[in-house]
Amino acid sequence: MPTSTSHFDYIIAGSGTSGGVAAWYLQQAGARCLLLEAGKYYKPREDFPLPEADYTAQLMWGGGIEYNTRCDLAFIRGRCVGGGSVVNAALMDRFDDVAFDDWKAASGVPFFSESAMEPHYDFAETQIALEEIPDHHRNNNAQLFIKGMENCGHVWKPLRRCQSDCPTDAGQDCIACLGGCHRNSKQSTLATYIPKAEALGLEVRDYAEVTQLEYGKDAVTVHTPRGVFTADKVILAGGAFGSTQVLLRSGFRAKLPALGRNFSMHPQAMNLAVFDEPVDSHKGVLQGAKSLDPGFRKRGFKLENVFAPPIAIAVLFGRVGLPLQDFMRKYRNLACIEVAVRDENTGVIDVDKNGRLHIEKKMTDQDRRRMRDGLGAVKAMLESVGAKQVIQCKMAFGLHLMGGCVMGTDRKTSVVNPNFEVHDHPRLCIADSSIFPNAPGINPALTIMALSHRMATTQAAQ
Ligand SMILES: Cc1cc2nc3c(=O)[nH]c(=O)nc-3n(C[C@H](O)[C@H](O)[C@H](O)COP(=O)(O)OP(=O)(O)OC[C@H]3O[C@@H](n4cnc5c(N)ncnc54)[C@H](O)[C@@H]3O)c2cc1C
Repeated sequence: MPTSTSHFDYIIAGSGTSGGVAAWYLQQAGARCLLLEAGKYYKPREDFPLPEADYTAQLMWGGGIEYNTRCDLAFIRGRCVGGGSVVNAALMDRFDDVAFDDWKAASGVPFFSESAMEPHYDFAETQIALEEIPDHHRNNNAQLFIKGMENCGHVWKPLRRCQSDCPTDAGQDCIACLGGCHRNSKQSTLATYIPKAEALGLEVRDYAEVTQLEYGKDAVTVHTPRGVFTADKVILAGGAFGSTQVLLRSGFRAKLPALGRNFSMHPQAMNLAVFDEPVDSHKGVLQGAKSLDPGFRKRGFKLENVFAPPIAIAVLFGRVGLPLQDFMRKYRNLACIEVAVRDENTGVIDVDKNGRLHIEKKMTDQDRRRMRDGLGAVKAMLESVGAKQVIQCKMAFGLHLMGGCVMGTDRKTSVVNPNFEVHDHPRLCIADSSIFPNAPGINPALTIMALSHRMATTQAAQ
């Protein structure tokens, strides 16, 4: 093994939901680790940008939004230390056996089941504070959602969020923490795993996008704008786009025919309802309730109450001039429900000759049917609670980006084996959202943490 100050036992490329967990677990197990992150290292109580335009531009890839090649689907992903866990809504769900059975069928991986993953979920949950949103913290938007669900005979459940001592009773509006949680209440990896690992000696470099890897017999060499580093092993944790992009840029396509394939995104559409009285959906807890309806699960969509800050609402609902002004005057009177579709994994992640992402993804007939079914359910719910007008967002967007380096037993159809190692490249591991064999139809972050824990325990045991 080479020895130098820039040689590590593990380099973890990407510091989000997966990378933060892996870095902490391996560091506390005694390994010397380096965590590389393309974005900036913000200090939660000091320098998260506050205005929506600033945090969107500074904490997200593509200055806020990226698109597929046809520009009819949008993607949002975090770019900062903590990654998606800093900018997400912090909703934590375990997968059900519907999701795991589909994964097992597609991949042949035996541990894809609720029971085999249970110890990893249990572990991931002990490292973050979790709270089911109580009745008295539900804002008007959540109350309308629940009333609409009940009027239409659907099953719902309170959402569970990872947050610690969030001062909701003192008027905290958690829409603001989509740009990072200033109170350090949201249990991002920036607030939990990463500082604990740093206390144990983890080195973190920000603005250190991994541009390329060289896989050697004794070590892996990692190129970044902050220098060249080597490690015995590299954990790719850049998410579906980031990890796939690094392997593509590093010439792995020829060795791994499935690289970049099986991309899915849970296309989401926001539905606004205009009421006569203010709803103030931006106040208090942003999201409080979700559908847990077996009929919806079967039909391939889920619903949650949600809202967005003003610029996002203006962009997503695409008006200009006086119609925009008129529309935005109604901001306080809007309720909102989001439909998320369990889409088919037909997308392809690729790079152009300059290494820039090139995402081929369109909604299939089945995806469109699922979206239509979801929109129909939402319209009925909102009208049942007295909405004057229901406005559907025409642009579907993806917050849950999955696949590109999927796990499986067959090297022709997958990239990573059940030990989380890239086929035939045991010095390269991946446990982030890129390994998802297909779309689960459930919020993914907790499962990414659990998979990362499984990968790290497997590594530490070697
Ligand atoms: C607005 C929003 C709301 C969401 N809400 C929820 C929710 O409530 N519940 C839920 O379960 N999920 C939610 N998600 C999705 C969830 O956050 C992601 O699925 C999850 O964070 C993905 O984890 P990951 O480790 O695969 O990647 P990420 O968390 O995205 O981390 C990848 C990190 O790697 C960095 N990176 C990428 N490429 C490189 C490179 N080449 N070199 C170095 N660093 C690199 C990125 O900048 C990023 O920091 C939401 C996402 C968004 C955007």
